Amino acid sequence: MYAGDYRCAKCNEPLNSSSMGLQCEKCGYKIFFKKREENKQTYKSD
Ligand SMILES: [Zn+2]
Repeated sequence: MYAGDYRCAKCNEPLNSSSMGLQCEKCGYKIFFKKREENKQTYKSD
């Protein structure tokens, strides 16, 4: 897991890889989402 790919679901702060747990160091929130999922693309082979 690359921490830079995750952002806090509350304040959108990037997850700091130096923090031990999955907790936003700015607001303390513990829910994150992958920022790359915002522009997820699906390719169909048909
Ligand atoms: Zn936060």
